[in-house]
Amino acid sequence: MHATLPLLEATDFPAIRRTRLETLQVNLGYRCNQSCVHCHVNAGPQRTEQMALGTVFEVIAFLKTSGVKSLDVTGGAPELNPHFRTLVSTGRELGVQVMDRCNLTVLEQPGQHDLAQFLADHRVEIVASLPCYLEENVDRQRGKGVFEASIRCLKHLNALGYGTPDSGLTLNLVYNPQGPVLPPAQGPLERDYHRHLSERYGIAFNQLYVLTNMPIQRFGSMLISKGQFEQYMALLKNAYEPRNLDSVMCRSLVSVDWRGYVYDCDFNQMLGLPLRWKARPRVHLRDLMGADLNGNGIVVRDHCYGCTAGQGSSCGGALDAQPRGS
Ligand code: SF4
Ligand code: SF4
Repeated sequence: MHATLPLLEATDFPAIRRTRLETLQVNLGYRCNQSCVHCHVNAGPQRTEQMALGTVFEVIAFLKTSGVKSLDVTGGAPELNPHFRTLVSTGRELGVQVMDRCNLTVLEQPGQHDLAQFLADHRVEIVASLPCYLEENVDRQRGKGVFEASIRCLKHLNALGYGTPDSGLTLNLVYNPQGPVLPPAQGPLERDYHRHLSERYGIAFNQLYVLTNMPIQRFGSMLISKGQFEQYMALLKNAYEPRNLDSVMCRSLVSVDWRGYVYDCDFNQMLGLPLRWKARPRVHLRDLMGADLNGNGIVVRDHCYGCTAGQGSSCGGALDAQPRGS
């Protein structure tokens, strides 16, 4: 795989600073039952990195002392970590809102037959990737048979109440473009998704999050291989919207890797760009117990233009669909 960081180091992206910490995003490891073309984590079945139980306990201790109200659990397929359920159930006992970034097909993996019920019982919000409502496009990006399995899993989640009115069980879907283009407007695409999935498969969901592909890891490497990296960066920069700077996710989120080290966001984690704190070369979550990150400078590089292009992009979808200045 081609390294992308050397191409992103020289940047004119504006300096930005943190506001109040609201979300702890925890990467439980890079193991995944899929190996999608656009994966910015480079996850797959062969990856062995997994958060150990001791580190999970450190995450729980941080939740207790920091008062952070939102826990965003990601991977790989986070559910494949043997301590996933300990983290989720303890987080919920603490009154923390928990989001599971679920690839859907993990619900059919061996040993996971009761996973969907576990998530429903703990009222975990599910954020599930479905990069298109057409089978051919999903299978090209995520692997043969993934679309059909995803539809089965969505029906299973709907049967438990996920995505249906008044159930309180939230099921959001995630879209990202197939190639080196900006995503379409979130609102109209969400309406298309609702119509198509409902008419064709009887599937309901809450919101669609539209994400921009980041020029890093597998996708960035693919751009380099095809000679499209510079063109894609020019596309992101030409679509720069300064107003998105107020709500990029790194202002209110920290990303924790499987060893407990912290970063300003998941993308910086994948690029090996640690959060800057008291001139330490690397910062562990335990170093931040009781710390106030408000005003701390954020580590930016050229990939940050992926968050500010057009309607903006974050782990909660388009920025212009979210409340500003949070
Ligand atoms: S399902 Fe998600 S984590 Fe797994 S390979 Fe695909 S994009 Fe990466
Ligand atoms: S890539 Fe990360 S650090 Fe850069 S703007 Fe986006 S969220 Fe912030």
